[in-house]
Amino acid sequence: MSATERQILRLANAAAPAGFKQVAILPRTSSLKFSGLLSSSTHSEVTSLDSVSNADLIVVDKVLVSDGLVTKDGLQGGPLDSFLLSALTALNTGGVLVVREDLSQHANPRVTLPSLTDYVDVFRRDISGKYVGFDFYCAEQLDSSIHLTGNYLDFVWILRKKEFTPPAADAATVTFRDFLDKTQYTNTGIGAYEWMFGKDFISPGGYDENIRVLEQFGGFEYGAKMLDIGSGIGGGVRQAAAVYGLQVTGVDLSANMLSEAIVRIHDEKDSRVNYSICDAVTYDFGENVYDYIFSRDCIQHIPDQDALFKNIYKSLKPGGVVLITMYGKGKGAWTEAFKKYNDQRFYHLQTLDEVKERALKHGFEAVHVENMTERFREILTNERAHLEKEKADFFKNYTQAEFDSLYNGWSAKLKYIEADNHNWNLFRARKPA
Ligand code: SAM
Repeated sequence: MSATERQILRLANAAAPAGFKQVAILPRTSSLKFSGLLSSSTHSEVTSLDSVSNADLIVVDKVLVSDGLVTKDGLQGGPLDSFLLSALTALNTGGVLVVREDLSQHANPRVTLPSLTDYVDVFRRDISGKYVGFDFYCAEQLDSSIHLTGNYLDFVWILRKKEFTPPAADAATVTFRDFLDKTQYTNTGIGAYEWMFGKDFISPGGYDENIRVLEQFGGFEYGAKMLDIGSGIGGGVRQAAAVYGLQVTGVDLSANMLSEAIVRIHDEKDSRVNYSICDAVTYDFGENVYDYIFSRDCIQHIPDQDALFKNIYKSLKPGGVVLITMYGKGKGAWTEAFKKYNDQRFYHLQTLDEVKERALKHGFEAVHVENMTERFREILTNERAHLEKEKADFFKNYTQAEFDSLYNGWSAKLKYIEADNHNWNLFRARKPA
């Protein structure tokens, strides 16, 4: 078996640890066979999936582009629907669909990567009286393609069949990934944020501030392994690799964000970097893997903080260090405007004391927490002044409505700080050696 087959099996097993007895493979290239390990049947046409039943694993290798289900003009709804419906019908509940596509020769990976991710993540159908779809586990780069051919666009989507409760008729979004991509992190939103924060960053202060934050680790061992949780369009990941020589994995649940990071790394070809579109709470990073875990202004999005801290603790090496900056809450009574801001974004803001308590509960030591809100105020003031001064440049790509949204958003945050509602916090701790 090849390294690519092993990587795919590792991911599929993490998504569905029960194991695979019935396996169907649909190869367009002969590279994936999984010979010797799985009892499998091989199929040559998408339509022949209709003859498969009770499958635990279906692997579809480079079929969607070659068969025209995904073209340069976009996704072909009808054929793609039939394919996904056949796969759902053929799979047992809990079974896994693996879709591998190499988008390096594809006309528009920047669009195809997030739109295919979106399509499979929200696809739901009634089959034999059950409302089923795919629980999105990840879309991940294939390591061998990165290391052997400098191809950062060879991908596998790992999707687990699951029964869902039908959504309310007025639900605007289907999954949390869908919510992130359709609200705060639309492509236009990401572009305008990047203009505001500086190239490659979607966090206060951009490149220079991120260096200052990384320095709070207290130094890095050259060549060590870092995980960046909520890595956005990749600024922090690329900085950690290019400045400190770290081997960095960036993960983000927003397909829009991470697709941008991936297209940029495909051009840049820094093989110290790899990415996965996934939820940092449910993805299995393995045990004792990383020397450092970093996260810039992501975890306020995450409802289950205990599950997150547990996952971080598990994947850090003994003696490894975690450093997180996050939007947090202060001690002031919440204004109506702040409540609304928090509700709209589904934030889960914590005080510094809550973060410290949680870290100790999960077994971390040398726990350090720091209120950086004054620095946040300074950065917001500078960024807002920069927007006003350079508005002519901003209007080259963005509208008055986008200008107003940023200007008012930054002004509102300054007011939330004034009321001691909005904080910016830092947390650092170590897993005992
Ligand atoms: N760290 C990046 C930077 O400094 O430019 C991006 C920061 S952005 C404010 C927060 C990021 O967290 C978003 O890209 C969002 O999609 C990501 N995120 C939110 N929930 C997540 C989750 N459960 N797993 C992984 N990423 C998540």
